[in-house]
Amino acid sequence: AVEVHGVHKWYGAHRVLDGVDLTVRPGEVTVILGPSGSGKSTLLRVINHLEKPEIGYVSVNGEPIGVRRHGDRLRELSERAILAQRSRVGFVFQNFNLFPHLTVLDNVAAAPVATRRLSRPAAQAAARELLGRVGLADKAAAYPRQLSGGQQQRVAIARALALRPGVILFDEPTSALDPELVGEVLAVIKDLATSGTTLVIVTHEVGFAREVADRVVFIDGGRIVEQGPPAEVLDHPRHERTRDFLAKVL
Ligand code: ATP
Ligand code: MG
Repeated sequence: AVEVHGVHKWYGAHRVLDGVDLTVRPGEVTVILGPSGSGKSTLLRVINHLEKPEIGYVSVNGEPIGVRRHGDRLRELSERAILAQRSRVGFVFQNFNLFPHLTVLDNVAAAPVATRRLSRPAAQAAARELLGRVGLADKAAAYPRQLSGGQQQRVAIARALALRPGVILFDEPTSALDPELVGEVLAVIKDLATSGTTLVIVTHEVGFAREVADRVVFIDGGRIVEQGPPAEVLDHPRHERTRDFLAKVL
């Protein structure tokens, strides 16, 4: 489970997250929708402690991320402890962020080896299996630049899975792709969704949200405006801001 507890985040005088509370239960698929600049990426980055909230904290599977409680205050954990926690949360970026100098196989195998979870041969065997799962078994020896955007994003998903994270965060995983490549990436994410992986997905793909989300969260101005099952939030939004947004993206 992911629990966001009363998170506020400022950049200078600019309040970007304004009291966000969110619970994602194990196995649940949550889709986050909202206009540009509403704080969606910042929220994902706070969940992974890539950004530190000024107020509030996040816990994953009951463990606070990046902080420990000290009386009624929160103290930052060591960088090493934060890295260990971060390896339990997968992150898939809009622009794939693969290592350009590594083969596809090594992109997927790198983290389990670096964190000493697996020996190199074991990590490579696991990576081959994951590449099969995302339909890229035949691309193991290729380099990222030799792949299409959709293939690169599927490698990025396999890489996120390699550390067997408790939850995977996706930040607009298809928005950098040509339209004809979107479907193959959404199909892989859908496969994860139906296999019970806990997913938090920022996307503008409303049709996809309707199909796979257990819950849709609409965020605007750093606040959760409304949330609920897709049939409620997408088809019967209660707030005008949600209606305006959906009218624009649909
Ligand atoms: P988009 O749909 O365009 O990706 P978003 O909902 O993901 O938008 P965020 O990237 O979370 O929005 O940004 C929220 C606000 O915080 C924006 O106004 C943005 O300009 C600001 N912001 C984000 N990162 C920083 C930063 N590192 N320094 C200063 N301001 C930032
Ligand atoms: Mg964003």
